[in-house]
Amino acid sequence: MYDLIIIGGGPAGSGAGRQAGKMGLETLLIEKEVFPRYKACGGAFSEHAISYLDFAIPQYIQEKNIFGARVHFKGRVIEKHKEYRISTLVSRSTLDNYLLQKAKETGIEMKMGEKVLDFKENQDSVIVYTHDNAYKAKFVIVAEGSQGRLKNRIRRKDTKGEYGICLVTEIEEDNEIIDNYIHNAIDIHLGVAKRGYGWIFPHEKYYSVGIAGIAKELSNPRRRMKDFLAANGFTGNYPVNAHVIPIGGIKRNILSSRVVLSGDAAGFVDAFCGEGIAYAIRSGQIAAEVISGIILYGKSLSTLNDYKSICEAEFGENLKYSLILSKIMHQFPGIFFPIFTSNEDVIDKYLEVPALKKTYKSYLKWFLPRIPKYLLV
Ligand SMILES: Cc1cc2nc3c(=O)[nH]c(=O)nc-3n(C[C@H](O)[C@H](O)[C@H](O)COP(=O)(O)OP(=O)(O)OC[C@H]3O[C@@H](n4cnc5c(N)ncnc54)[C@H](O)[C@@H]3O)c2cc1C
Repeated sequence: MYDLIIIGGGPAGSGAGRQAGKMGLETLLIEKEVFPRYKACGGAFSEHAISYLDFAIPQYIQEKNIFGARVHFKGRVIEKHKEYRISTLVSRSTLDNYLLQKAKETGIEMKMGEKVLDFKENQDSVIVYTHDNAYKAKFVIVAEGSQGRLKNRIRRKDTKGEYGICLVTEIEEDNEIIDNYIHNAIDIHLGVAKRGYGWIFPHEKYYSVGIAGIAKELSNPRRRMKDFLAANGFTGNYPVNAHVIPIGGIKRNILSSRVVLSGDAAGFVDAFCGEGIAYAIRSGQIAAEVISGIILYGKSLSTLNDYKSICEAEFGENLKYSLILSKIMHQFPGIFFPIFTSNEDVIDKYLEVPALKKTYKSYLKWFLPRIPKYLLV
């Protein structure tokens, strides 16, 4: 009988694993892939995400420090840089592998290359089934990401208005050419997809290029991706990966009596910019902290509900206001996208959000009263 089984070894699973290991829980983490594995992602690892780690990220993982953004909309372009770093670009295969090693060094057990097929919740335990084995634990954290189906034992499936579709490819290029294209900033293209955007991120020796948009409005996504690539001068035949992403800020059930969802499985993703790594790490940590309170300090089983309230208190508001900003912007793109691509302050202040210097709420509070003035210009 383990204290805890964690399903999935992405940022949510490794965040939970490291926290559980540090607190001394008998923990088993089960991951279906053998790491390092590919993960479809833009790879923007924000200061917000880094702030949750109790260790430094080695230089070799940090491919490019990002200080700013260049934003495009219908021929308008604006670029703004901060004097401090807002994120670093990483390859997820390398980052996730490192985060998992940091979880492993706390002494937790891991099974790699073993897919969890199902789990069954009993009164005093949970049984987790893989192809060849069954494992038993007092608690389970489902950190399977956005594409797994185990989470739907706890919460209903998202509708097409509650998740996004992303397409992404990695395009090799010389560092010098990349650096000439864009320097220490990310490239964002508004108007490419409803409730989403297109991106070109300058990594070490490759660009991450992709589009994302709300599923119910993104018809023919592969065609749109091809058009986006061509419009930006990428005319080769690139392998494109498709992935879904939950839209955060929507109320979802995230726990039962012994099972907790964290990261993408819980729907914890910024609806405006798609940032999910920060919320995955932190929600995994919170889940492990709450479970250790029950196991190590004899708190009642109902204390598991604290997971929901702590997540809500720490980042619920940020997810809610990122959803509000996304809805406002995309409801009236003809008004807001030109504002976003003509007023330096609007971008300048927004960059403070991933840098953890501003919340979405304080950004909106600053932004909304300024709208009429800009519209008159
Ligand atoms: C195209 C794209 C671009 C993105 N860009 C960014 C970005 O630039 N910055 C950012 O912060 N966020 C970004 N995100 C969001 C970010 O990738 C996710 O929010 C983050 O990966 C969530 O972490 P997670 O641990 O919850 O899930 P994941 O990272 O998906 O990890 C889940 C893990 O569980 C494993 N697993 C799944 N099912 C099982 C099973 N049944 N048994 C065992 N193991 C299982 C998987 O193999 C995987 O390793 C992007 C997402 C997409 C799709």
